[in-house]
Amino acid sequence: MLESYSRSWTEINYSAIAHNVKEIQKLVGKTKIMGIVKANAYGHGDVECARVLADCGIDFFGVSSVDEALRLRQGGIRESILILGYTPPEHFHYLVEKQITQSLVSLEYAKKLSAYAQSVQNCIHCHCKVDTGMNRTGIIYQDQEKNMEAIFEEYRLPGLKVEGIFSHFPVSDDLGSESKAFTQHQIELFQEVCNRLKSEGLDPGLRHIQNSYGILNYQDLGMDYCRPGLLYMGVTSDDEIPIVSQPDFIPILSWYANISLVKWIHKGQTVSYGRHFTAIKDTKVATISVGYADGLHRIVSNQGLEVLVHGKRCPIIGNICMDQCMVDVTNVADVQEGDIVVIVGQQGDQKVTIDEISRKSHSINNETLCAISSRVPRLRKRD
Ligand SMILES: *Cc1c(COP(=O)(O)O)cnc(C)c1O
Repeated sequence: MLESYSRSWTEINYSAIAHNVKEIQKLVGKTKIMGIVKANAYGHGDVECARVLADCGIDFFGVSSVDEALRLRQGGIRESILILGYTPPEHFHYLVEKQITQSLVSLEYAKKLSAYAQSVQNCIHCHCKVDTGMNRTGIIYQDQEKNMEAIFEEYRLPGLKVEGIFSHFPVSDDLGSESKAFTQHQIELFQEVCNRLKSEGLDPGLRHIQNSYGILNYQDLGMDYCRPGLLYMGVTSDDEIPIVSQPDFIPILSWYANISLVKWIHKGQTVSYGRHFTAIKDTKVATISVGYADGLHRIVSNQGLEVLVHGKRCPIIGNICMDQCMVDVTNVADVQEGDIVVIVGQQGDQKVTIDEISRKSHSINNETLCAISSRVPRLRKRD
């Protein structure tokens, strides 16, 4: 990690992760936490987050792909790793070599993995994915079609050690009655599958179903693991969505940029590409060194998105450029080149949240965080 910054950078408060983990643990009771660190931990640094989470006692990590799993192994993470998505057959050997657990995305896929494991006379660790309503991956087990025999078959395939079983919620964030009934029914279907495995004399292994909103709204389901990503990062997808619980999370990411120039423009002059901002009075403008190539989406231009300058909220004006954008700082005294602007985070007693960017880009915090690009250094917040 870089120890210095140049134009735009984030600061990650890794010590706040421990606090957030405690808050999650309060909600889920005895259920253990599988730390989801896919997509570079939504831009927060996968190995760094995994190390901190491991120090908090977390012994299982979830990633989306084999390359993400290898990054963790190369970073010295020795805990269990579950690949939530698909691993192509040409990469099966990594599962054996690096002791990585693979999700079984279908019975056909499980059979390929089983054939490979037998061919190398080894054993591959797996979790069975059951599709109770997301219709993304896994063996379908829904009212219209309950493929129980296929699940039994996966558990009996030679060369595979099926050590867990999981499913996923598509609407655990929604407290509307239809979504609640849907999610509740998914939980029942999942428990039914686990019970039928036991009746068949098969051990379902580690059971897990809750993502972040599953934890917030369904809390203690008595599962073996839960799978939070966002929550240990201290945010939810959307601050305006009501949730059942009232946890006290600390967002771990702040985002900054430098001011490169401050100048006055006259009434009637315009700012940036397309000339979408016209000064209605003489205006003091700061140029800041962050743009859409850093992940500050161009779509949030001209929508009054505010950043903090000297602890005061100031709107971005005109189109956001690739590497820069402009801010109206008329109301802030003594602004100078080199001053630090807060895109996300706190300055003085003011705070700007990632949620403000997400709302103006019609997105959710998951995506806004992932979009902060790799050229933006992630600095460690000093304690
Ligand atoms: C991404 C993902 C999660 C984590 O989701 P959050 O909403 O960030 O908690 C959990 N489970 C699966 C299968 C996922 O793909």
